[in-house]
Amino acid sequence: MTELKSRNFKRLYKKEIADQKLRENLRKATIQASGKRNDSFSEVDFVFLRDEAKKIKQESISHLNDLLSQFEDNAHENGCTVFYAESPEKANAYILDVARKHEIKKIVKSKSMVTEEIQLVPFLEKYGIETVETDLGEYIIQLAGETPSHITAPAIHKSRTEIARLLHEKIGIEQNDDPAFLTGEARRVLREKFLSAEMGISGANFLIAENGAVVVVENEGNARLSTSAVKVHVIVTGIEKVIPKFSDLRIFMRLLGRSATGQKLTSYVSLIRGPRKEKEKDGPEEVHIVLVDNGRSRLLGTDHQEVLHCIRCGACLNVCPVYRSIGGHAYGSVYPGPIGSLVTPLFFGPENAPDLPFASSLCGSCTEVCPVGIGIHHQLLSMRQEIKPGSKHGLESFVFRNFRKTMLRPGRYKLLTRLARVFSSTSIVRKILKGWTGYRDLPQLPSRSFREIYKSEGGKG
Ligand code: SF4
Repeated sequence: MTELKSRNFKRLYKKEIADQKLRENLRKATIQASGKRNDSFSEVDFVFLRDEAKKIKQESISHLNDLLSQFEDNAHENGCTVFYAESPEKANAYILDVARKHEIKKIVKSKSMVTEEIQLVPFLEKYGIETVETDLGEYIIQLAGETPSHITAPAIHKSRTEIARLLHEKIGIEQNDDPAFLTGEARRVLREKFLSAEMGISGANFLIAENGAVVVVENEGNARLSTSAVKVHVIVTGIEKVIPKFSDLRIFMRLLGRSATGQKLTSYVSLIRGPRKEKEKDGPEEVHIVLVDNGRSRLLGTDHQEVLHCIRCGACLNVCPVYRSIGGHAYGSVYPGPIGSLVTPLFFGPENAPDLPFASSLCGSCTEVCPVGIGIHHQLLSMRQEIKPGSKHGLESFVFRNFRKTMLRPGRYKLLTRLARVFSSTSIVRKILKGWTGYRDLPQLPSRSFREIYKSEGGKG
């Protein structure tokens, strides 16, 4: 694998945070996505569903080996071929073999984070196999020659105007930033690809142990076409996606769409049980399931095991103040945001992402929205100590030491807040805090404190 860019986080984030347009695009999109998420959960009991999902995931990951064997047996019975790939290299080599065996020249691919993780598309292209992303966001990113900047919304960092310009330049469509027009044109181009491709690649959201079914959740119908209108279908997913029972899906289906896009349910939920049967008209002749480990099984039995519960909904990214300011590319990993800051060092080794666990304010917003109850900010905190034991950033530790002292002494607190009210808006303070004020507002403190107002209005005690 090529060297991970996540090693260069400090350099990357400085570039991204200086891009005001990017920050505007991100802020608008993430605030909108979080708002939709919150609205959609107002009608169901989030805490109940989250706790149920957490129980199922805990059970699944604690019995991962047994459930994977059960899944494999049932998938075999359904006519699928299952391949365990302990590394990206092994997964890619297996998929290339399948493609070569069938003399495949063109592949249509639907969204899958694991294929990004193993860098499957550049690998196949290297061997002359055209591999077309068919999820609209992924297609835009592929045309731009970029990598996704969000788990569920890969082109979140681009505005409509930028997308219109890109599609005009790359596929020659009229420059018009109406979303319906752009979608229609991209759909027309992609239809041709679907009709001419011989092989389809998809990810999987869940693997059901009790019946060997693969569940694919999506909104555009492209995954359904990539998995059914082709001769060979290859599913590439992580080993942690297995859940025990079909009935467990009822919990996840109510959480996933709401957490990801604020939808009650995504537009398409496909259950794939194997290749076309004798009397069936549609479906692939062969179905291969590639289960990628790539560091996951190393986490079993460790304090980080719960990271494997993630269902890749992207909700933690949308609420993260760091992600909102720097976007996904700054992380230099296919997995950005709070969950990316955890899984990147865990899957690829801490030496490849030494700074990512520090890319968090530890405000806990990520933990609050996580639909499977991962204690994301607690995990980040413990990873900091593992990566750089006893590490403290000089200025940060000075500030927090003094913050603690101030909060414990009312007289000192009163004096400092009084001084802050007088000096906070002066240019010298702004100069000292330029690392902060360069990218954010420093709000003007009110001229009187709450206590002063309370006292002057006759409040007692
Ligand atoms: S950690 Fe939780 S909130 Fe973040 S992507 Fe995974 S499931 Fe979603």
